[in-house]
Amino acid sequence: MSRPTGATIRLDALRHNLAEVRRRAPGSRVMAVIKANAYGHGIAAVAHAFRDADAFAVASLEEALRVRAVGLGNPVVLLEGVFAAEEQKRAAANGFEIVVHDARQLEWLKQHDGPPLPVWIKVDTGMHRLGFTPQDFRAAYEQIAKLPQVAGTPRLMTHLAKADERDRAFTARQLQIFDELTAGLPGERSISNSAGTLAFPDAHRDWVRPGLVLYGVSPMEEGDGPSEGLKPAMTVATELIAVKTMPKGDVIGYGGRWSAPEETRYGIAAIGYGDGYPRHAGNGTPVLVNGERVPMIGRVSMDMIAVDLRSQPDARPGDRVVLWGEGLPVEEIARAAGTVPYELLCGVTQRVNFTVEN
Ligand SMILES: *Cc1c(COP(=O)(O)O)cnc(C)c1O
Repeated sequence: MSRPTGATIRLDALRHNLAEVRRRAPGSRVMAVIKANAYGHGIAAVAHAFRDADAFAVASLEEALRVRAVGLGNPVVLLEGVFAAEEQKRAAANGFEIVVHDARQLEWLKQHDGPPLPVWIKVDTGMHRLGFTPQDFRAAYEQIAKLPQVAGTPRLMTHLAKADERDRAFTARQLQIFDELTAGLPGERSISNSAGTLAFPDAHRDWVRPGLVLYGVSPMEEGDGPSEGLKPAMTVATELIAVKTMPKGDVIGYGGRWSAPEETRYGIAAIGYGDGYPRHAGNGTPVLVNGERVPMIGRVSMDMIAVDLRSQPDARPGDRVVLWGEGLPVEEIARAAGTVPYELLCGVTQRVNFTVEN
């Protein structure tokens, strides 16, 4: 028997979440974001589960080629466009759609002498990451729309910076800027990431671009996927590999960061930061042992963590331990570790055994 540390990916949950996105954005097509190895879930299995998506979106040509290798015909969008002039030919030859977000990419596009490509023009409405500034946007649009290198009417996109927050004013301002800049222009629009898809129906437009929600996880500051009607697709689990008792006052783990307030029964589970469990999760981070919550105690090691089993007198080695997923939202673990669920999902490491379930 090998190390019992594994991640299970449920395809039925993925399909449910895509259907839930469609139910919430009924007038929009869905560009399923499957960058970063489908948020750590495995690109091949996920692409198949989302085969009904209207398009896939990824962060690079390499990722797009990996999607193509799965053998599906869905359009594939490069969310950051190409990173060098040479990439444009390969993108065009493979039929990928590209984002053009700045003057450098526009120059590459003008020099392109292969088949025309569908283009998304990105405008920066406040995120200040990628996109033409409101000042430069119209001139860029006029140029791009006339280029023979562009297939069809260029489409228009922007990205929301704060749609996950309670305060809705910033997003409202981004929408207003986008609408003013693009008023009267033809072409399909896309604005919403997961948070926009959940919280801003006015931002759904022609195409929504959800990532995180498709994996059953909520991007919102508060709450979690299940409370949004989503099903977490990834469950990370292992087993107890030791169960013991320590006397009152003894400490556990590197640095002795937890000391027993009384004689304490505790367990060691085979998972650590070498598997992608966050090292910054502190004392009290919830862990499921046999389906019941117990607190983690002490520091996370590379291969192990300790859990307080005082509430579980019958727990023994071999018992199931769930770190996140079904019954324990990854959002909660992310908050306990001072990070976001995206990072935890993307960060599950190579040595974890992945299993795909229908
Ligand atoms: C990653 C990404 C998305 C998806 O974001 P989620 O928060 O996971 O829904 C959408 N659009 C762009 C441009 C992205 O880079």
